[in-house]
Amino acid sequence: MATLFVSDVHLSADRPEQVHRFLEFLATTARRAEALYLLGDLFDLWLGDDDLGPPNGEAVAALAALGRAGVELFALHGNHDFLLGRKFARDTGCRILPDPARVEIYGEGVLLSHGDGFCTRDQSYQRWRAFTRNPLAQTLFRALPLPLRRAQAARIRARTLALTPRKSPEVMDVDPGTVASAARAHGVSRVVHGHTHRPGVYPLEVEGMRTERIVLGDWYEGDSVLVWDRTGPRLSRLAEVDGQLAQPSPPGVRHPPWNITVAGRSSETRMRVRPALATCSR
Ligand code: MN
Repeated sequence: MATLFVSDVHLSADRPEQVHRFLEFLATTARRAEALYLLGDLFDLWLGDDDLGPPNGEAVAALAALGRAGVELFALHGNHDFLLGRKFARDTGCRILPDPARVEIYGEGVLLSHGDGFCTRDQSYQRWRAFTRNPLAQTLFRALPLPLRRAQAARIRARTLALTPRKSPEVMDVDPGTVASAARAHGVSRVVHGHTHRPGVYPLEVEGMRTERIVLGDWYEGDSVLVWDRTGPRLSRLAEVDGQLAQPSPPGVRHPPWNITVAGRSSETRMRVRPALATCSR
């Protein structure tokens, strides 16, 4: 059995082929995994749990069906879908994790993040991120009628698109020192994230110890999936995943509980994340 990770699917009605490919993945390949982690920006735009126009509503239904088929679902917020909330969690059966979240994957401590929080060289983006994660700002925004939220999001997107070409690739990428500090603070030797759309396995030196940053690619051009089983992680393309998955275990066989450490509280704090727990610039 294996655990799968995807990030930056950016489901959008503007890209029907990619929506189809992802829904097909949920209905077929993903059913053979024991857990699926969505590491942010699953939706190109999620303006609140009532934002269920195509393709958002279809994806919610497909995730719910996957959950009913016995696959454990976890989601982190991305910078395009940070308003995924309690109703989304309830409707899909996804457990929304804090960012970063320390989880154990087959006995190994791993730090999961969308990745935008590691882009600390982009200070204007970090100020914007802090504002969007402010609970009061979110409550006020959610209170607006959906058409107003759409109009506001379109304005913000236009502004972001205008600003992005002025930023250097280094500023737009994660800061390795920030990732290394997070890895050290959480006592892990692997960090998995997306957001930068620069897939690969990047070595990272933490206090002389060799660690690894696994970066998932997006589903615009590619279809990056991280397959993790008892032999370790493999960053793959969708077409390779079926061949890498072993046969599903017989019905009724349960995997061990998932240990999640909530970042920002004591790094020693461990908890079982209950279903529908909602805690949860590219
Ligand atoms: Mn992102």
